[in-house]
Amino acid sequence: LFETEPPPWELTIADDIATAKIVFSEAPYGPYDYRIPEEYRDLVKPGMRVSVPLGHRRKKMIGWCIETQLGPTKRSGKLRDIIEVLDEEPLCDAHLVRLVSWISHYYQTPTGQVFDTLIPSSVRANAGTRERTYLTPCKQKSDDKSIEALPAKQQAAFRFLIAAGRPMTASELMVHAECTRGPINALQSKGYVEVAVRREMTTAMPMRWQKDDGENQQIHTLSNEQVSALEKIDAAIDSGEARTLLLHGVTGSGKTEVYIKAIEHVVRFGRSAIVMVPEISLTPQTRGRFERRFEGVAVLHSQMTPAERHYQWQRIRRGEVQVVVGPRSAVFAPLPHLGLIVIDEEHDASFKQDTQPRYHARKVAHARAMSLGIPLILGSATPSMESWHATATGHAELITMKDRIYQRPMPNVELVDLRIRDDRTRGAISRPLHQAVQDTLNENGQVILLLNRRGFATTIQCPSCGHVVSCPDCDMPLTHHRDGGKAVCHYCDYTIATPPWCPACRFDGIRYGGLGTQKLEVEVKARFPSAKIARMDSDTMRRPGSHQRVLAAFRSGELNILLGTQMIAKGLDFPNVLLVGVINADSALHFPDFRAAERTFQLVTQVAGRTGRGERGGRVVVQTFTPEHPAIQAASRHDYLQFATDEMVSRRKFNYPPLGSVARIIIRGTVEEVTEAVADSLLGRLEAARLALGVEVRLLGPAPPPITKLRGKYRFHILLQATDAAVLGATIRRATDSFTIPEKDDVQYVVDIDPMDM
Ligand code: ADP
Ligand code: ZN
Repeated sequence: LFETEPPPWELTIADDIATAKIVFSEAPYGPYDYRIPEEYRDLVKPGMRVSVPLGHRRKKMIGWCIETQLGPTKRSGKLRDIIEVLDEEPLCDAHLVRLVSWISHYYQTPTGQVFDTLIPSSVRANAGTRERTYLTPCKQKSDDKSIEALPAKQQAAFRFLIAAGRPMTASELMVHAECTRGPINALQSKGYVEVAVRREMTTAMPMRWQKDDGENQQIHTLSNEQVSALEKIDAAIDSGEARTLLLHGVTGSGKTEVYIKAIEHVVRFGRSAIVMVPEISLTPQTRGRFERRFEGVAVLHSQMTPAERHYQWQRIRRGEVQVVVGPRSAVFAPLPHLGLIVIDEEHDASFKQDTQPRYHARKVAHARAMSLGIPLILGSATPSMESWHATATGHAELITMKDRIYQRPMPNVELVDLRIRDDRTRGAISRPLHQAVQDTLNENGQVILLLNRRGFATTIQCPSCGHVVSCPDCDMPLTHHRDGGKAVCHYCDYTIATPPWCPACRFDGIRYGGLGTQKLEVEVKARFPSAKIARMDSDTMRRPGSHQRVLAAFRSGELNILLGTQMIAKGLDFPNVLLVGVINADSALHFPDFRAAERTFQLVTQVAGRTGRGERGGRVVVQTFTPEHPAIQAASRHDYLQFATDEMVSRRKFNYPPLGSVARIIIRGTVEEVTEAVADSLLGRLEAARLALGVEVRLLGPAPPPITKLRGKYRFHILLQATDAAVLGATIRRATDSFTIPEKDDVQYVVDIDPMDM
């Protein structure tokens, strides 16, 4: 009865009514206004969790407060009350609450879900802690007269508590004062002791990880390039402005040392820093470098227990940490006096999250740095086109380090043309590469072999001329769909029958896809039976610590050959690696992705950078069907500038990022026809939105992605392209606003702004 007609007294609006806007991480997402009851008036703050009634049945829900307000709102009369406040203090400060709403807006994700991403579940669940009740003697009752008024046992216990000089739990006091619970309860009810509840860790946390892995060298003098890079960064720090600096330094130029010195500068003024690295680079080696140089370091990684994660988060929030080192989620570290954000290997794909909110840590870091007025340093030997473009448009300052430390030469890169029959063998390793591996093993050097065979997409490539079958409209390689023998462009759905011979040279025997690391391992073992070999890819690296174990064995010289996927291409610094072999440089090139050339250049350059780091030098052998491809050519000469210039031309031609913006909507459902129908109607709404807003947006699709059926769900893509991210955002918002799919259809869609894996 009360549900429909609120009693009249609830309708009177007090002038100073306090309200809070609450959001939820499940539908309906809110925000909804609630009244803050008198007793919570000064308690509820943005960034806290509250429990509130929701819906007709007044279901108790946990929500996040994003705003509080004094004074009547439009519907103050019918407002419901907050039931309970769940946090004593906000879990994120006002600045982070603003960041949450920025992410929610930009990435089109409900605010509540963004909170759940920002605040780890271990923190929300208070992992590894429990509440304990402590007793302290009440001051007013601590005089002799009051004490003497007590019966003997209570007196003894009370005197003991005073003498202890610290709060004690009841059970502690029972043990020490040798009494039962009775006297303690009596003291409590008579008001002799005060009771306080405290939350404590249940397990002791290790303060640091094993420290002395790897090199322990002290760096005494910076190179000239490091000095001038540091001067520019320090100037940016001192300016008190939000500035983005792109540190483009070749592999082995000593970028990490520059970050460390810049952080020292920030720490000197009582401020703190975040350093993001790809998860894979979070080796003991990286940790050691930071832990040796700073007092309070928190290293975050994906294999922490919830208790550890919670513990580190609390340390960070209390201001006990100067430097947070971690993967993309470290961008949310709640440091109270953040003064600098660094992203190492900023081009790395792992900085983009592939679940909602599909944020890019670089973009979020930029937003956070802007709102705090602090510098952001992006470091890479192969900057992303986005960051490179930012230096051209004045959004970022470019700092270049051209030389390796000690002027060590860049390794020589030899290209092996796989089209030349003489060099080919039956397997994956060509004659020149086989010889190079043999030579290196004979010299007691170590070898890294890269085969980046990931994912599912099968390219259609001619083994004779190297031609790749591509889409005439999108310039993207077509994907071979086994069912029906079709070759499909997964951008625009252009479809042809898969050609049985090469359309370019008529060679009869066109090939689909190829080889994986597993097969390669078998071959390498057979070719070099006395060598000790380890394989590193996501299949062999599932267990916690396996990555570290393999790298330690490689460092110690126990292993001769390390082979694997792009995992082995990043950040490793082993002076005895004298040879790097790239099994198929084209594997990333013919992915149906406009970033394919960029990925290829990055991968080859990065893996090449793993050698030549010691006094014995190093060489690189790159196998390819397309040695003339600009990306491979540029990588073989370590020529980023040439690559970036060429690449920008081709991006401009099709208006691909960073010149334009791209967004993608993925529609998933259990029934193919229904899913496609939903995708079609979404497309219709996008077209209408585009028209209504009068904006230019290219709409492609709905097209099936390379795997049309994934985990039992059919998938369709709609791709949107425009010159401006804001235009795309507005179009999608308008089209999806109040777009609901009947539950029985079992179709969901996600919006991916600035997608990285196409
Ligand atoms: P990058 O990240 O640019 O590839 P690193 O920071 O890993 O390079 O540095 C490469 C190697 O050079 C590391 O072993 C590092 O300890 C060393 N190094 C860096 N700066 C100096 C220096 N000024 N003097 C001597 N060695 C240095
Ligand atoms: Zn196409």
